[in-house]
Amino acid sequence: MKISSGAISLLVISALAAGTVFGGTQVDPETALTMLNAQNRQFEQKVVKVADNVFVAVGFHGANTSMIVGDDGVIIVDTLKGPGSAAKALQAFRAYSDKPVKAIIYTHSHGDHIGGAAAFMENGTPDIYATAGFGSAEGGINKDVNPVKGKRNVRQFGRKLPAEQQTNRGVAPAGTDDTDGGKGFVAPTIRISEDGYKTVIAGVELELYLSPGETDDALFVWMPNEKVLFAGDNFYHSFPNLYAIRGTAYRDVLNWSDSVAKMAAFKPQVLVPGHTMPILDPATAATALQNYSDAIRSVYDQTVKGINAGKGPDQIAHEVELPAHLKDQPYLIEFYGTVPHAVRAIYAGLLGWYDGNPTTLNPLEPKLKARKMADLAGGTQQLTKQMNAALENGDYQWALELSDQLKWLDAGDRQLARRVKIEALRALAAREYNAPNRNYYLSYANELESGQLSEVWF
Ligand SMILES: [Zn+2]
Repeated sequence: MKISSGAISLLVISALAAGTVFGGTQVDPETALTMLNAQNRQFEQKVVKVADNVFVAVGFHGANTSMIVGDDGVIIVDTLKGPGSAAKALQAFRAYSDKPVKAIIYTHSHGDHIGGAAAFMENGTPDIYATAGFGSAEGGINKDVNPVKGKRNVRQFGRKLPAEQQTNRGVAPAGTDDTDGGKGFVAPTIRISEDGYKTVIAGVELELYLSPGETDDALFVWMPNEKVLFAGDNFYHSFPNLYAIRGTAYRDVLNWSDSVAKMAAFKPQVLVPGHTMPILDPATAATALQNYSDAIRSVYDQTVKGINAGKGPDQIAHEVELPAHLKDQPYLIEFYGTVPHAVRAIYAGLLGWYDGNPTTLNPLEPKLKARKMADLAGGTQQLTKQMNAALENGDYQWALELSDQLKWLDAGDRQLARRVKIEALRALAAREYNAPNRNYYLSYANELESGQLSEVWF
């Protein structure tokens, strides 16, 4: 059986080819919707049998949970975000085995993989495996800014969007029930520090490998006999989210690429991602991992080359592209992560905020710059005219940038600037097939419209 999303990728590629590409992840609105609707098939709710004794529950929440059936028990890999959705997945698993849960393995500590563990504990607490570094997903380094991260998280995932504005979250469905998020978390009981830790649980041979990437505390699970590999969130059907616009500390991009290359070396017959559909075709599974690793490495190398040529992040972000043979692979389309955001993250991760240009050592204060921009345009009215014309001509990014100037001007029509910003954001959203960008544009526009944002933000 081949569920390698071949049909979906064809649809996506033909949609891309048919659509007018405006650059980045912007295409015409109809194409954007067609692509996002096609991506929804990656997380339709179902249990996929990927080997005689391995079952993957897709679409019961944002991430996947899997059941490995052994002699006298089952092993669960990842547990979804809360006990409610986990219980539903377990119920679906019970159609295939009613053996007790002997062990749980967490691939990493992100909430959508660990919060439902309690639902799998009908017969007491099983062994729970994770890496020794478990819990260091975000490093705790930016917890002081949790208030703003929370707001940005809501926008990135479109958590407050009305139903008609929702599409998906790139590698997860929209509208998941998160009310019990984290409520079923149970701490790991066995913490692995050895790479390639081997064990036998319920008669099933398992190997656990350290695989820092999306998080530092990640592992992947290898079944040497069945040749099934559980990748966690270092692989899913989308260009990886090397940077999350909700705000993250630097995700070590090179580690991520290396970890996926390490997985590729096993040449799995079956690849089970942390999100989205499993890949059941052995040839596709192995090449997908190698290509994924190569794609990350290529973006890193191109960024480094740009940096060493003295370019700043704004320029490099517009120049770096995936190599032609990788670009249209169904698992590298930018539904979740984007190449330009990855470039900026790598730049900041390696060098910090400063782009090396002395002009940016002490840029003008925004309000003063806006006044000078207005003078340059021939006055506030002229700048306003240009902003309106940009919106009318479909030059939406420019309309946004000019509305952000106008908002600082005492003589400016702030209400108009706000209106233009809302319309430009919605127009950009309609053209986006990158789900976080689309959700963020729409959420922000709604916040602006309902007057939720402070004056600084508009
Ligand atoms: Zn996840």
